[in-house]
Amino acid sequence: MKISLLKFIEGKEKKLEIKKNIENLNIEGITFTELVKISLEIYKVDDDINGSIEVEFEYTEECSRCLKKYTNKIIDKADIFISSSKDELEDESVDYYNILQKNGEINIEDLLKEIFNINRPLKPLCSVNCKGLCPKCGVNLNEEDCNCDNEKIDPRMGKLKELLDKEV
Ligand SMILES: [Zn+2]
Ligand SMILES: [Zn+2]
Repeated sequence: MKISLLKFIEGKEKKLEIKKNIENLNIEGITFTELVKISLEIYKVDDDINGSIEVEFEYTEECSRCLKKYTNKIIDKADIFISSSKDELEDESVDYYNILQKNGEINIEDLLKEIFNINRPLKPLCSVNCKGLCPKCGVNLNEEDCNCDNEKIDPRMGKLKELLDKEV
């Protein structure tokens, strides 16, 4: 997935806004439901390019508690450094970088993956109040109540629990 930066390099434009289909990014468990919005702004062009990038993803994934698919949005804005030589990248303290190819294009596939993976929640939740699944019967407790008594402790275990509680 490539973007041409020739217009920036020639100084004709400072800002680029595009939408791309990223279904083929192939991130496990993720379905992108909208085109990704990318906004690229350029501050300085020498041999290298300094700028900022803003990316907006909309996708569905499974809630880690109730296992239901839900829609989420990630927006990230960060500095980007686009270098014509790989060697310079090591020292740069910017958030993201990319390699400027000889024809004035950059390939943004890995960059998009990186931005997505840095920002995605480690424990995805459909809602902070998600009640999850009943550990006994498996119903989605957001949708229905069940008759399982999940608080109840086996009387034979009661003594053990008392002891454990004292330890804490
Ligand atoms: Zn949930
Ligand atoms: Zn239950």
